[in-house]
Amino acid sequence: MAEQWNSIFQKRATELDGDEWTLELDDSIVPGQNQQDWNQYIRNAFAEFSCSLCSRWWPSKQVKVVFHFSLDPALHRGTVKVKCFKQKCRECFDAEMEEPCFSSENIDVMVEKLMEKIRIRCYGAEPPESNRNLFFDDEIKGPHESDHCEACLRGFCQENDQIF
Ligand SMILES: [Zn+2]
Ligand SMILES: [Zn+2]
Repeated sequence: MAEQWNSIFQKRATELDGDEWTLELDDSIVPGQNQQDWNQYIRNAFAEFSCSLCSRWWPSKQVKVVFHFSLDPALHRGTVKVKCFKQKCRECFDAEMEEPCFSSENIDVMVEKLMEKIRIRCYGAEPPESNRNLFFDDEIKGPHESDHCEACLRGFCQENDQIF
């Protein structure tokens, strides 16, 4: 999954003023607890999961994805850390928390939006007047299995898409 994120991120990161940006998946970041000089962008995304015990697949529109990002202007180096909250199978007793599986298209939409936040927070760009609606933020909301969602269990699922 890291490779998938990285190749998509690197294509878009070349737009950023000649600074060198890197992206890493970091399971240890916590929503709302970004370090000093780090910005946060948090959103919901669509992904599929598969259970490693019974091989069942399920989709979810409410997969919490957290980005922490920071630019060191002196070194011309930027870093993005990503955490994707996991879910577990509701059929299996003792199911493991599974990593979400995103389509490249969905990652690209998230990265595009992330770039917008980076330009605003790290490069002083003006926020756009109207925010384009993303195709997976639409009205289709299936039931959400809170008991099987890592973000719910840790109390982060109710946070809306936001930057702070
Ligand atoms: Zn299962
Ligand atoms: Zn949840």
